[in-house]
Amino acid sequence: IDSKLPWVGTTIFTVMSRLATECGAINLSQGFPDFSAEPALFEATMRAMQNGRNQYPPMAGLPELRHAIGAKVESLYGARFDPESEITVTAGATQALFTAIAAFVRPGDEVIVFAPVYDSYVPAIETVGGRAVYASLLFPDYRPDWESVRRLVSPRTRMIIVNTPNNPTGSLMTADDLATLADIVRDTDIVVLSDEVYEHIVFDGGKHLSVISREDLAARSIVVSSFGKTYHITGWKIGYVLGAAALMNEFRKVHQFNVFTVNTPCQAGIAEYMADPSRYLGLAAFYEQKRDFFRAQLQGSRFEFLPCRSTYFQLVRYDAISDLPDREFAEWLTREVGVAAIPVSVFYPDGRDDRVVRFCFAKQDSTLSAAGERLRRI
Ligand code: PMP
Ligand code: GLN
Repeated sequence: IDSKLPWVGTTIFTVMSRLATECGAINLSQGFPDFSAEPALFEATMRAMQNGRNQYPPMAGLPELRHAIGAKVESLYGARFDPESEITVTAGATQALFTAIAAFVRPGDEVIVFAPVYDSYVPAIETVGGRAVYASLLFPDYRPDWESVRRLVSPRTRMIIVNTPNNPTGSLMTADDLATLADIVRDTDIVVLSDEVYEHIVFDGGKHLSVISREDLAARSIVVSSFGKTYHITGWKIGYVLGAAALMNEFRKVHQFNVFTVNTPCQAGIAEYMADPSRYLGLAAFYEQKRDFFRAQLQGSRFEFLPCRSTYFQLVRYDAISDLPDREFAEWLTREVGVAAIPVSVFYPDGRDDRVVRFCFAKQDSTLSAAGERLRRI
């Protein structure tokens, strides 16, 4: 086969979760909660099914859900998006990202991404004939290197992809970062694709700054979010995008032939459940407690924490334990210690290895303490 993506294997999240299952290891690799969402969400969704809401919804998503999203976005970020023309419900963030890339990137176009880079972006860019060019989040603080972005911008640059709060690093963009980004794209036709799926999971009194909190960026950005992260339902695969009408029009041209629409009863259930804002406003405190609990379990171990300002991932250095490359270390940890993690080198195009692995702490306390007990022993 003449592969379009010869260098792409199976995603690390599948590889590590499969290995964890094979070895009976505690799975702190792929990011998903091991606890349930609230019954009220299931009840609202089942009610929708029983009330016959089981056929195609409108292409852009159920109006009640788009209105609920618009109200949330306005109250949190002060930006108004018209539910009719500027909000679209998607089959998770992954489809939203892929569709946005397909809608705007032409063969030969360049897309600037930051390494370490979430693993779905570059294969999507290459599938549609674009080329990823890499700026950096600088180790060990993972601050964006804007000078490298300025050097990379060219007449071929079609898009810049940012991800804040950032997976896997837990770093956050600041107001200065957004001002610099706005300066870089001013007077160009570059589209900003902003992956903000962890928007509600920010710690230590920090604040998520959406690109739409600036009018100049809001006018040229597509923002992606996911209910999977916010409501502990990663398997439902429902998310949404925001974008100014002209951008959204292009997005929907592809979306309608990519998935057309997204699961009706789950959209109805989420719309009803969203009416109570405490359900997303409480998420930061909930996960901050998980982060601190997980860190406490690792006290006395030889892992060294990197800062974790957001998301449900903790990066750790393991220099004091092993000099194995991170992929081999993650495999050894899974097989021999019984705790699965994600090696961070997979998020670099050149496999850069700082000997850092990622643990997911979206887990019950009992899971985290069992993992801690194993990790303290090595
Ligand atoms: N972007 C980032 C940064 C993510 O971490 C994830 C999921 N973990 C996604 C996108 C995909 O989200 P979804 O499951 O809604 O497709
Ligand atoms: N985004 C999740 C993570 O970072 C996994 C999603 C997936 O498995 N594709 O672990």
